[in-house]
Amino acid sequence: MTSNPTDEQAGMGSIQTVRGGTAVSIENVSKWYGNFQVLRDVNLHVATGERIVVCGPSGSGKSTLIRCVNQLEKHQRGRIVVNGTELRPGTKGLPAIRREVGMVFQQFNLFPHLNVIDNCTLALVRARKLARNAAEAVAMENLTRVRIPEQAKKFPAQLSGGQQQRVAIARALCMKPKIMLFDEPTSALDPEMIKEVLDVMTRLADEGMTMICVTHEMGFAREVADRVIFMDGGEIVEQANPAEFFSNPVQVRTRQFLSQLL
Ligand code: ADP
Ligand code: MG
Repeated sequence: MTSNPTDEQAGMGSIQTVRGGTAVSIENVSKWYGNFQVLRDVNLHVATGERIVVCGPSGSGKSTLIRCVNQLEKHQRGRIVVNGTELRPGTKGLPAIRREVGMVFQQFNLFPHLNVIDNCTLALVRARKLARNAAEAVAMENLTRVRIPEQAKKFPAQLSGGQQQRVAIARALCMKPKIMLFDEPTSALDPEMIKEVLDVMTRLADEGMTMICVTHEMGFAREVADRVIFMDGGEIVEQANPAEFFSNPVQVRTRQFLSQLL
């Protein structure tokens, strides 16, 4: 975990100073599902420690783009480089790179038959070969980080949606990722639970985590993002710091999208 002591709550569009290097480079990336082109020549460079919010209409390719960053989906053209390693079929060490990229989904994707702590320790024990007590210590540390250590013995079905999503975040953090991808993490939640999940994400941002968040929570984007990316039709149509993005969107499609959110 990179810690970033100068990172206070980011103001709108504030630029953080303690950063180094590029975490993710997406260069001229295109992708097709059959004949349908879902990504069109996308370029995006994410600095280490940078917080990106991706928004755009349903079907614009947001999920596909971030799923390409951990190769849950394969791109067909262009280059994606994560922490210095290019992702392509047959890349040696792809699993290792994947471990550096944590992902949180809209639907939590917890294992229903495992309790909270076992959800968190499974990969540590099976993939990382950690001893059970060591894995549990890591799990408890991260459950504390998302403020639900007391739920460790419960099963997912016994938790609220907000709590389940915080478990999913803790589970991802157990792998000590360098980059976190969030795909509409609050879209499946009742309104009263959205804040507790956004608070955890804000805290991660304050700790210096590199984050790419697909979300339509524009309050979060204003407060936390360094950059807001607007996608439509598989393209990045516009990007700017949040202050500019919200007060002075340049493209017609961006304006239309934002006007529908208000
Ligand atoms: P978003 O996350 O912005 O809603 P997606 O990346 O999920 O967009 O999808 C973009 C487009 O690609 C949509 O039209 C969707 O129907 C299509 N699509 C997504 N996944 C697949 C798939 N596995 N096979 C075929 N088409 C897909
Ligand atoms: Mg999506």
